Amino acid sequence: MKYDSLIVGCGLAGSVIAERLSSQGEKVLVIDKRDHIGGNCYDFRNDDGLTVHKYGPHLFHTDDKKVYEYLSRFTEWRPYELRVAASLGNELYPLPINRDTLNKFFKINLRTEDEAARFIELKKEKISIVKNAKQQVLSTIGREIYDAFFKNYTIKQWKTDPENLDASVTARIPIRTNTDDRYFTDKYQAMPLNGYAKMFESMLKNVDVKLNENFENIVKKISFEKMVYTGPIDEFFGFKFGRLPYRSLDFQFETLDREFFQEYCLINYPNEYEFTRITEIKHATGEKNEKTVIAREYPIEGGEPSYPIPNDTNHNIYGRYEKEAKNLKNVWFAGRLGQYKYFNMDQTVASALETADEILLRCKIKRKINL
Ligand code: UDP
Repeated sequence: MKYDSLIVGCGLAGSVIAERLSSQGEKVLVIDKRDHIGGNCYDFRNDDGLTVHKYGPHLFHTDDKKVYEYLSRFTEWRPYELRVAASLGNELYPLPINRDTLNKFFKINLRTEDEAARFIELKKEKISIVKNAKQQVLSTIGREIYDAFFKNYTIKQWKTDPENLDASVTARIPIRTNTDDRYFTDKYQAMPLNGYAKMFESMLKNVDVKLNENFENIVKKISFEKMVYTGPIDEFFGFKFGRLPYRSLDFQFETLDREFFQEYCLINYPNEYEFTRITEIKHATGEKNEKTVIAREYPIEGGEPSYPIPNDTNHNIYGRYEKEAKNLKNVWFAGRLGQYKYFNMDQTVASALETADEILLRCKIKRKINL
């Protein structure tokens, strides 16, 4: 079989690039070693008719109009703004930390944004150059909040002290002086109306997809001009510069004979239990059902790679692979694992769209030279 492009991995990055290339008339094959499309965004309906996010909660949010409009070609949306709580003792606290969280936690009564800002000013530690996630939290909100909300959650999630992680990890969560309790403030926040898997199906309409197929096998069976690899970049190069570590999650699902289990879509447990959070995705899908499904998330090592671990050591290793990747003529790397970046879904799409443009431009130039 002869293809213009082989895409390895049928997750968000791979599917976007496959769709873009096929829309320009290319013959594209996407393979995935799993038995389903959609990568970690994959969802399905269980026997009770409830949507399950097999690899954890995926809440779409973006400020990028181009990304939103692009995905809107493949799905309708159900507007949904995520709200999250942290459970400490028997109390729930809004996350991100906002004025209500501060009032409840410190048992005070800050009434305005100015009052909250002054309070935070007194709490935060002066750190001239913020070098890691611990310093990021200490320098924005101080030690008490760090100890109660961030320290143990981060150790559980990443199996390392926050000192060994980039500041960007905890900086994902802002500190607010207002009482906005939405997890994200992006302009577009929504769930694909019929689920992620259906959205991927629509993206891949004109693409050949081969599931349960691995890379080593397929290269023996087909010919192709170029390739996009969305698996772990270190594995592609035979780990020659060392292994890049990834964090994985084990999801323990439970179906309950009640309409809802908890008040929030996500409740985090920084200091108790071995799991980090309990998700009840029904809040986000809006499904009406007498039953509900919850998922407890246990961070593990050695499962399906899900999170690149952002720190200097790993960026250095990745840098060597990246350089090697640039020397390859007709191979591109994309997505969380291909680019070793803690991308959100919208960042993955934006980056994949850029990669697709680059590939198409290169092809155009090549065709011109050949003429
Ligand atoms: N975090 C934390 N406590 C929380 C929530 C998050 O310490 O209650 C830290 C933790 O290090 C986590 C990071 O902030 O990995 C980013 O959180 P986010 O909710 O963005 O993680 P994701 O949804 O990507 O797993």
